[in-house]
Amino acid sequence: MSTGLVSVAYVVASVLFILSLGGLSHQESARRGNLYGVAGIVLALAATLASVSSDGVIAIVVAVLLGASVGIAIANKVEMTQMPQLVALLHSFVGLAAVLVGFAGYIEPLTDTTGTEHTIKLVEVFVGIFIGAITFTGSLVACGKLDGRIDSKALTLPGRHLMNLAAVIVSVLLGAWFLGTDSLALGLIALVLMTVIASVLGIHLIMAIGGADMPVVVSMLNSYSGWAAASIGFMLGNDLLIVTGALVGSSGAILSYIMCKAMNRSFISVILGGFGQTSSSSAVADADQSVHETSVDEVCEELRNAQSVIIVPGYGMAVAQAQSGVSDMTKLLRERGVNVRFGIHPVAGRLPGHMNVLLAEAHVPYDIVLEMDEINEDFPDTDVVLVIGANDTVNPAAAEDPGSPIAGMPVLEVWKAHQVVVLKRGMATGYSGVENPLFFKDNARMLFGDAKDSIDKLVSGLRA
Ligand code: NDP
Repeated sequence: MSTGLVSVAYVVASVLFILSLGGLSHQESARRGNLYGVAGIVLALAATLASVSSDGVIAIVVAVLLGASVGIAIANKVEMTQMPQLVALLHSFVGLAAVLVGFAGYIEPLTDTTGTEHTIKLVEVFVGIFIGAITFTGSLVACGKLDGRIDSKALTLPGRHLMNLAAVIVSVLLGAWFLGTDSLALGLIALVLMTVIASVLGIHLIMAIGGADMPVVVSMLNSYSGWAAASIGFMLGNDLLIVTGALVGSSGAILSYIMCKAMNRSFISVILGGFGQTSSSSAVADADQSVHETSVDEVCEELRNAQSVIIVPGYGMAVAQAQSGVSDMTKLLRERGVNVRFGIHPVAGRLPGHMNVLLAEAHVPYDIVLEMDEINEDFPDTDVVLVIGANDTVNPAAAEDPGSPIAGMPVLEVWKAHQVVVLKRGMATGYSGVENPLFFKDNARMLFGDAKDSIDKLVSGLRA
């Protein structure tokens, strides 16, 4: 295929990717967005295959077959609740790819360059490996934290900001050395040293970020992986990769901004870390405070008598896979004339849009699924709120206890409703590790048990 045709195919693929992102921003158009994305990828792969020599085609096909078989095996094994850690792991692969391509591009450049062009190429290699190494190790740590293998608490080493600054300064100095040397061996030494420093920096940056800030970290690493891909594009002189990487990088950055706003945090303070550590919050845990337990029958009675119900799902609904029962219950209540709506916190679950995906999968109508800002003022006029496996996102300490580690984070103000029923298994904290005074409020009742079991019993009770 001629270079011109390949370029045209790449431009069309880029447009398809942009349409895909546009489609994915609304539930109604998400399916179409996915199709655009698939079409873009198929076109990009076909154009790439058509533009390389037959040896190259064999190498690409073997790599794709190997990658696809590992991918299919992992995808078949992974539970829906493990998706966040899988996404983090996939981000790490992009980072690793940037590092490997950077080294390969330095040792055996695709094109001979001289003068300014050569310097620009070297800068691309250096920056690409730097971003790639941070993305690689940072994403692995994020994966470990999301998976519960690494403690989600923030690691706050003394002088950690200075250590980070020192790492950046030493990397810049190594960069100057790298650009100044004509020796391949010395250049490689500079690259290896910088890679080690950037890898440690990636680990340290993410270890310092506490549970409450993890949503921002996930989208931030998504953004880094985009920039890492764009840097690979520069190194390989591949326009499509540059455009795609920039799309992922900028959309990840926008998502990070939205997440920060949702949590009332500044991006810089998230990056600096140390937030969201476990606390013995003053608002809870008065020894003589006790929770009020309720039963399936009582909750059924309350739901039957209610005119308005708001359901607030959280990570526990995803763990229990209770969404289809929740959908059945919603249908039953709506048939009885109850006004049922859903309140979704922007960081509920473990992935942006996690709850929306689960509810859409269970065929809950989109028009009753509302964002936090759209529904927060309606709680005082609501008869019953069902909190299904949500915890941090309904924690009143965020609004009422200035000393709480999550103080200032906007939450769904469920405690303002007439009655709140919390479905969870025990008194465990949420992801941030912060205690929740909601459970001790006078108008709150605990329905203990696995959310799916409880919902199934409620559905049977409502049908009876
Ligand atoms: P939380 O993680 O705060 O709480 C979930 C609750 O669900 C737990 O307290 C747990 O209590 C309960 N639970 C677990 N399994 C079950 C089950 N089978 N049945 C019933 N209950 C269950 O959830 P939220 O959605 O409210 O908050 C999300 C948290 O995750 C926030 O802190 C957010 O910052 C963080 N986060 C969000 C990301 C995102 O992008 N959305 C990414 C990374 C982190 P018990 O064990 O007692 O049942």
